[in-house]
Formats: sequence, C-alpha cells, structure tokens
Amino acid sequence: MSRRDWLIVGAGFTGAVLAERIATQLDQSVLVIDRRGHIAGNAYDYPENGLLVHRYGPHIFHTNSERVWRYLSGFTEWRPYFHKVLGMVDGRLVPVPFNIDSILALFPPRMADRLCDTLIQRFGFGQKVPILKLRTEADPDLRFLADYVYEKVFEGYTLKQWGMRPEDLSASVTARVPVFVSRDDRYFQDRYQAMPRAGYTALFERLLDHPRIRVELNAEYRDVASSVPHDRTVFTGPIDEFFDYTHGALPYRSLRFERRVEKPPCGLPVGTVNYPNEFDFTRITDQRHLGGAPDVDPLLITEYPESYSVGVNEPYYPIPSTATTPLLERYLASADSLDGRVFFAGRLGDYAYYNMDQACARALALFEKRIAPLVTGQAPSGRIAVSA
Ligand SMILES: Cc1cc2nc3c(=O)[nH]c(=O)nc-3n(C[C@H](O)[C@H](O)[C@H](O)COP(=O)(O)OP(=O)(O)OC[C@H]3O[C@@H](n4cnc5c(N)ncnc54)[C@H](O)[C@@H]3O)c2cc1C
Repeated sequence: MSRRDWLIVGAGFTGAVLAERIATQLDQSVLVIDRRGHIAGNAYDYPENGLLVHRYGPHIFHTNSERVWRYLSGFTEWRPYFHKVLGMVDGRLVPVPFNIDSILALFPPRMADRLCDTLIQRFGFGQKVPILKLRTEADPDLRFLADYVYEKVFEGYTLKQWGMRPEDLSASVTARVPVFVSRDDRYFQDRYQAMPRAGYTALFERLLDHPRIRVELNAEYRDVASSVPHDRTVFTGPIDEFFDYTHGALPYRSLRFERRVEKPPCGLPVGTVNYPNEFDFTRITDQRHLGGAPDVDPLLITEYPESYSVGVNEPYYPIPSTATTPLLERYLASADSLDGRVFFAGRLGDYAYYNMDQACARALALFEKRIAPLVTGQAPSGRIAVSA
C-alpha cells in the first residue's frame, strides 16, 4: 500500500471523527484500521428482524454539547429517544436512578411522604444527589434512605458490574449513580437525547466516506504498522497494550452478552431492567425500545460482567481508581515522549470512562488543538482536557 500521512488505529467514535477531520480539513491521507471485522467500535449495530441490534450492549446517544450534536448531525438524522430504566428492588420494578416515584412505590404512604419531604427540603426539587454524598447526611430519615438505596440499588450492582466495592472506585464512576429528587424517570437528562435514525454503523459509514480515507478491517496494529509506511499515528486501543505492558497491565472490566428472541408479551416495559441484587447478570435490554420498533418480537440482551484477560475477552471498561492512577501516569508520560508522532485518544487510549459524546469531543479537541496546528506548522504542547 502507498504511503499514508496518518495511520488511525480503531474505527470507533474517536478514530472515525479524527479520520474525517484530517481528511476533510487538512486534505491528508488516512488509513483507518480495526482488528474487528466492522467499523463503529463499541457503537456497532446491525439489522436483524426489523431491528437495529447493538452488538456491544445498549448505546444511547445523549449530550449537553451543542457542538458535538451539530457535528454528528452532519452525518445522521436522529430519532428522539428517552431511555428509561427500571430496577428490581424488593420484588418490585421501580425507576432507576432512584427517584420520588421509586420511594412512593417501595415504602408505606406516610413514610414515603416524609422521606420525600425531607429530601426536597434538604436538596431542593430537581436536584441529583450522588449516593455516596447522601450517605454522609446527619438527618436520620436521609440516612435511612441513603442506606436503603446504597444496599438495595447501588452496592450489589457495583459489586457485580465492577467486581469492586463502590468506595474503591473513582468518583467519576460513582457520581454516575445519583438519587434524583424529581419524578423525571428518564435515565439521562441531557439536552439532546436521540438515536441515529439509520443506526450508528450508517453514521460511521458517512463519517468515513471520503476519497482520502481508506478502511481496513480485521487488521492488527502491529502487522499494519510494520507493513504500511505512514508519518503519524493515532492509537485508540488500550494504551498499556501499545507499550507492551512495560509498566504493568492496567485493569479493565469485560462483559459477556447473551441474546434471545422472545414472543410478546415477554418483552420489557422499558428499554432496560437492572437487577442489582438477584442473579449474576446486571441488566437486560429490550432492543425494540432502542430501535423504535415496538411491533417486532422482543430481542433481549443480557449482560454478564466478567474479569478481563488479554486475548480472551474485550476490555470494555477502564477501571479508574486511586489505585490505578500512578500506573496510568507512567503510561501517559511514555505517551508524551512520542508527542507529535503518536497520539493517544479515546476510552482505551486515554484510559477514561468516556461516553460517546465525550469520545467525540475529545477527538474534536485533539484535532483542533494538536493535530491541525502540527500539520499547519503551529504546534502547541500540553495534554488536552475533554469538555463534552
Ligand atoms: C456495554 C457498553 C454500553 C455503553 N453504553 C453507552 C451509552 O449508552 N451511551 C454512551 O454515550 N456511551 C456508551 N458506552 C461508551 C461507548 O461505547 C464509548 O464512549 C465509545 O465506544 C468510545 O469510542 P472509542 O472510539 O474511544 O472506543 P471504541 O469504540 O472501543 O473503539 C476502539 C476500537 O479500536 C480497536 N482496536 C483496539 N486496539 C486495536 C489494535 N491493536 N489494532 C486494531 N484495532 C484496535 C477496537 O477493536 C475498537 O473497535 C458504552 C460502552 C459499553 C462497553
């Protein structure tokens, strides 16, 4: 293959957005590779029985970033979608994140009213309170509620999902599980919430559809890097893998997905049902809701969290914690020493728990602040923060 200006490793959000920017804004040639047999990274979806199935678990697009929303809207039309989640708590399905309706469903009426009043007076209606913060409250009703939610909704789920106690995880993970002082039962409250109308894979096809971009699938970085001449690299795979685990292996969490097609009425009433306490799996998703196809047979995807082993399963989640920070810092220092030749970005390249909009924002920022100035001869230095 002829020489390329850029080799981009990974055809997920990070790699595809950077490829699009480099090709269209800098007119440079890009080879995008992925070791998987498809584009779109973890957001990959495919058609089956009238549905778009998310192969790597439910992916719901949500963002407060007008910039990311506008950028991606250049490559897809959207279908509005508000994701709803119920959790199985004490034998009842109640809204998750835990909210006022969850309280009303689980406790006797007078007790529920008192708990709701106390919560509203203390924090204000419409506020989100991280569960670990609620546990530090002095009021006995709030402490009771905090302990209840902690034990019945949070602790078991966290132990299953991460294989760790909540306290040992970074606040960037635990802050994702609030008590919501509201009756809003949407899982997200972002300004923009939607699914790509033709699916994520179609969105990626449009991102990558440019004469200066070539895509190679089932292609491993090590093989391509030595056989295809290129000037610079963007690596969106695991940063520790890139450096051959020189400083030691960073921890990741993996998942096993089990799917089955049911006949109505066996589908779920909402997109996802969480099981914080019972069973070995964490949640089941009914793809009909995500796919906007209520009349087809329910396709249920069950997620079993697993420990991660190199070469055995996928590193889906970095596990940010105080214990992993020093190791990550060593890898980031190694990455800095390659500055200008190899850039790291994305959920695995940055080892950060990004959502899709954050991965997209990170790619746009990397392009604007580092890559474009480098190519046009005005290279600044320093790491780039994400602001989706
Ligand atoms: C179960 C699950 C559910 C999620 N749900 C949501 C959600 O609802 N909403 C949301 O916003 N986000 C969600 N996310 C997060 C979302 O998947 C990420 O934000 C997004 O995928 C990040 O994109 P990326 O390009 O950084 O990484 P990825 O999508 O992981 O892409 C990286 C690509 O690099 C390839 N690669 C790695 N190493 C190599 C190598 N050596 N050679 C060749 N190729 C390589 C991989 O095969 C992969 O395709 C979810 C994630 C998971 C795991």
